[in-house]
Amino acid sequence: MRSGIFRLALPWLMALACAVATAAPLQMHEVAPGVYVHQGAHQDFDDADYDGDIANIGFVVGKQAVAVIDTGGSFDIGSALAQAVVKTTALPIRYVINTHVHPDHILGNAAFADGNVRFVGHAQLAQAMYESQDAYLRAAPARADGGKNTIVLPTIKISKPQRLDLGGRTLLLQSWGSAHSTTDLTVLDEQTETLWTGDLLFTERTPSVDGEVKGWLQTIDIIKQKPVARLVPGHGPSPKDQAAAWDAQQRYLQTLQSDIAQGIDQGQDMSQVMQHAAVQEKDKWRLFDVINPRNVNLLFPKMEWQ
Ligand SMILES: [Zn+2]
Repeated sequence: MRSGIFRLALPWLMALACAVATAAPLQMHEVAPGVYVHQGAHQDFDDADYDGDIANIGFVVGKQAVAVIDTGGSFDIGSALAQAVVKTTALPIRYVINTHVHPDHILGNAAFADGNVRFVGHAQLAQAMYESQDAYLRAAPARADGGKNTIVLPTIKISKPQRLDLGGRTLLLQSWGSAHSTTDLTVLDEQTETLWTGDLLFTERTPSVDGEVKGWLQTIDIIKQKPVARLVPGHGPSPKDQAAAWDAQQRYLQTLQSDIAQGIDQGQDMSQVMQHAAVQEKDKWRLFDVINPRNVNLLFPKMEWQ
């Protein structure tokens, strides 16, 4: 039994050894039995010390295999995550799941692409990654790239609830309509009732919009109806009070949307709307002065024509 697993794992370990030779293992927290999370820092893409380590990423260990959930914002962060898996278990990685298209969640994929790992995402993810790849690779600062970042597309495409088997442990994957992004996917570890929300949930960090506010609010309403033992947000710590965390995010999104709509009604231009949109939320979120104007910048032109 033991040698069987070893035989299966050996080619993977050898291939991985090249990728991770220089990476120190990422620091992980076992938030539930077999569920490991690395919490990213609250930095912006444009910060001088941004190195791709801003999203929450991690892995779940079954009896036969491991699934990685998001890979970080650079090849090096992905390598460090792969090293953390090796340090934790001798089992092979069977799946890499991306919760959505954004570069801080997917640019580490290449560190896992050894031919044995299956990449998994929302049905629209491959297309979205393909369309964004030039922009993402160009925008990645040298310290979050080193010339090693490449895009690895998913081949298992999720369009309806689907389970992945890790041996004695299943992950329930669910894709969502346009919300935080157009490619949001949640991952539920059914054994511990741990729900990886991807960027459908932010805690502490200002939520960023790249999809549709209305769809996002509706998605939250659905997810909120089924409380779980624990949430792993896309950014920020796991909330102690889940309802409060969802409510806070809905409040921000609703305020943002209604303030922009009000500004448009009053004939204001985008720079005027930026001065006041959701300003009463300013002290409640990190990186507000960077992310909130970006949200207005994305939503204002769309809403102006509605
Ligand atoms: Zn995102």
